[in-house]
Amino acid sequence: MLLRCPISLVDETLEILRAAGRRGTEGIVLWLARRPLGDGSLIAEAFVPEHTAEVDVFRIPPTGMTALMVHLKARKLALAAQVHSHPAEAFHSRADDAWAIVCHEGALSIVVPQFAKGVTAANFLDRSASFCLSPDDRWLEVPAHDLPQYLMLT
Ligand SMILES: [Zn+2]
Repeated sequence: MLLRCPISLVDETLEILRAAGRRGTEGIVLWLARRPLGDGSLIAEAFVPEHTAEVDVFRIPPTGMTALMVHLKARKLALAAQVHSHPAEAFHSRADDAWAIVCHEGALSIVVPQFAKGVTAANFLDRSASFCLSPDDRWLEVPAHDLPQYLMLT
Protein backbone atom coordinates (compact mmCIF):
# COMPACT_ATOMS: atom_id res chain seq x y z
CA MET A 1 0.00 0.00 0.00
CA LEU A 2 1.37 3.36 -1.00
CA LEU A 3 1.45 6.22 1.50
CA ARG A 4 2.14 9.78 0.46
CA CYS A 5 3.72 12.20 2.91
CA PRO A 6 4.11 15.96 2.45
CA ILE A 7 7.73 17.17 2.69
CA SER A 8 6.65 19.61 5.43
CA LEU A 9 5.57 16.70 7.66
CA VAL A 10 8.86 14.89 7.02
CA ASP A 11 10.69 18.05 8.15
CA GLU A 12 8.46 18.29 11.22
CA THR A 13 9.04 14.60 12.03
CA LEU A 14 12.83 14.92 11.72
CA GLU A 15 12.87 18.01 13.94
CA ILE A 16 10.94 16.10 16.64
CA LEU A 17 13.39 13.17 16.38
CA ARG A 18 16.41 15.50 16.59
CA ALA A 19 14.94 17.22 19.67
CA ALA A 20 14.56 13.80 21.34
CA GLY A 21 18.14 13.01 20.34
CA ARG A 22 19.38 16.18 22.02
CA ARG A 23 17.77 14.83 25.19
CA GLY A 24 19.69 11.60 24.60
CA THR A 25 16.66 9.46 23.78
CA GLU A 26 14.95 7.83 20.86
CA GLY A 27 12.03 9.73 19.41
CA ILE A 28 8.72 8.36 18.15
CA VAL A 29 6.33 10.01 15.71
CA LEU A 30 3.12 8.50 14.39
CA TRP A 31 1.95 9.38 10.90
CA LEU A 32 -1.81 9.76 10.74
CA ALA A 33 -3.96 9.83 7.62
CA ARG A 34 -7.65 10.35 6.89
CA ARG A 35 -9.89 7.33 7.19
CA PRO A 36 -10.31 5.03 5.45
CA LEU A 37 -6.68 4.16 4.95
CA GLY A 38 -6.06 3.10 1.36
CA ASP A 39 -3.65 3.04 -1.51
CA GLY A 40 -2.32 6.57 -1.99
CA SER A 41 -3.42 7.79 1.46
CA LEU A 42 -1.94 11.19 2.29
CA ILE A 43 -0.35 11.68 5.72
CA ALA A 44 -2.24 14.50 7.42
CA GLU A 45 -0.52 14.78 10.78
CA ALA A 46 2.72 13.94 12.57
CA PHE A 47 1.63 12.97 16.08
CA VAL A 48 3.82 12.43 19.12
CA PRO A 49 2.11 9.99 21.49
CA GLU A 50 2.56 10.10 25.24
CA HIS A 51 5.59 7.89 25.74
CA THR A 52 8.71 7.18 27.72
CA ALA A 53 12.06 6.86 25.99
CA GLU A 54 15.62 5.96 26.73
CA VAL A 55 18.71 5.94 24.54
CA ASP A 56 17.72 2.74 22.73
CA VAL A 57 14.04 2.11 23.44
CA PHE A 58 10.66 3.81 23.64
CA ARG A 59 7.41 2.69 25.23
CA ILE A 60 3.86 3.94 24.93
CA PRO A 61 1.96 3.34 28.18
CA PRO A 62 -1.72 2.28 28.19
CA THR A 63 -2.79 5.88 28.89
CA GLY A 64 -0.87 6.97 25.79
CA MET A 65 -2.63 4.34 23.67
CA THR A 66 -6.02 5.43 25.00
CA ALA A 67 -5.24 9.10 24.29
CA LEU A 68 -4.14 8.14 20.77
CA MET A 69 -7.41 6.27 20.12
CA VAL A 70 -9.44 9.26 21.36
CA HIS A 71 -7.44 11.57 19.09
CA LEU A 72 -7.87 9.31 16.06
CA LYS A 73 -11.61 9.08 16.61
CA ALA A 74 -12.07 12.83 17.18
CA ARG A 75 -10.08 13.78 14.09
CA LYS A 76 -11.37 10.87 11.92
CA LEU A 77 -7.80 9.76 11.34
CA ALA A 78 -6.11 6.37 11.10
CA LEU A 79 -2.65 5.30 12.19
CA ALA A 80 -0.77 4.87 8.90
CA ALA A 81 2.89 4.50 9.86
CA GLN A 82 5.34 4.91 12.71
CA VAL A 83 8.70 6.64 12.52
CA HIS A 84 11.30 6.36 15.27
CA SER A 85 14.95 7.18 15.71
CA HIS A 86 17.93 5.14 16.83
CA PRO A 87 21.18 6.44 18.34
CA ALA A 88 23.24 4.72 15.62
CA GLU A 89 22.18 2.24 12.95
CA ALA A 90 18.67 2.00 11.55
CA PHE A 91 17.24 -1.50 11.96
CA HIS A 92 14.17 -3.13 13.49
CA SER A 93 15.19 -4.33 16.94
CA ARG A 94 13.46 -7.21 18.67
CA ALA A 95 11.77 -4.65 20.93
CA ASP A 96 10.61 -2.77 17.84
CA ASP A 97 9.11 -5.98 16.46
CA ALA A 98 7.32 -6.71 19.70
CA TRP A 99 6.19 -3.17 20.52
CA ALA A 100 5.17 -1.84 17.12
CA ILE A 101 2.09 0.34 17.41
CA VAL A 102 1.09 -0.03 13.80
CA CYS A 103 -0.01 -3.59 13.34
CA HIS A 104 -2.18 -3.86 10.21
CA GLU A 105 -0.95 -5.92 7.27
CA GLY A 106 1.20 -3.68 5.07
CA ALA A 107 1.87 -1.32 7.99
CA LEU A 108 5.00 0.75 7.58
CA SER A 109 7.63 1.28 10.28
CA ILE A 110 10.48 3.63 9.47
CA VAL A 111 13.68 3.80 11.51
CA VAL A 112 15.89 6.88 11.26
CA PRO A 113 19.59 6.51 12.20
CA GLN A 114 21.88 8.79 14.26
CA PHE A 115 18.95 10.42 16.09
CA ALA A 116 18.13 12.03 12.69
CA LYS A 117 21.31 14.13 12.79
CA GLY A 118 22.09 15.22 9.24
CA VAL A 119 18.90 13.61 7.92
CA THR A 120 16.78 15.89 5.73
CA ALA A 121 13.64 15.42 3.67
CA ALA A 122 15.96 15.12 0.66
CA ASN A 123 17.95 12.14 2.04
CA PHE A 124 15.27 10.74 4.38
CA LEU A 125 14.39 7.80 2.12
CA ASP A 126 18.05 6.88 1.56
CA ARG A 127 19.20 7.20 5.15
CA SER A 128 16.26 5.50 6.86
CA ALA A 129 15.40 1.81 6.94
CA SER A 130 11.77 0.92 6.24
CA PHE A 131 9.94 -2.19 7.34
CA CYS A 132 6.60 -3.58 6.27
CA LEU A 133 4.40 -6.00 8.21
CA SER A 134 3.89 -9.16 6.18
CA PRO A 135 0.62 -11.14 6.05
CA ASP A 136 2.18 -13.69 8.43
CA ASP A 137 3.02 -10.93 10.93
CA ARG A 138 6.74 -10.47 10.34
CA TRP A 139 8.52 -7.16 9.85
CA LEU A 140 10.38 -7.35 6.55
CA GLU A 141 12.83 -4.69 5.43
CA VAL A 142 11.64 -2.95 2.30
CA PRO A 143 14.49 -2.99 -0.25
CA ALA A 144 15.45 0.50 -1.41
CA HIS A 145 14.26 -0.13 -4.96
CA ASP A 146 10.80 -1.19 -3.69
CA LEU A 147 10.34 1.78 -1.37
CA PRO A 148 8.60 3.98 -4.00
CA GLN A 149 5.74 1.44 -3.90
CA TYR A 150 5.30 2.12 -0.17
CA LEU A 151 6.15 5.73 0.43
CA MET A 152 6.22 8.81 -1.73
CA LEU A 153 7.19 12.27 -0.49
CA THR A 154 5.06 14.97 -2.05
ZN1 LIG B 1 13.97 0.87 17.43
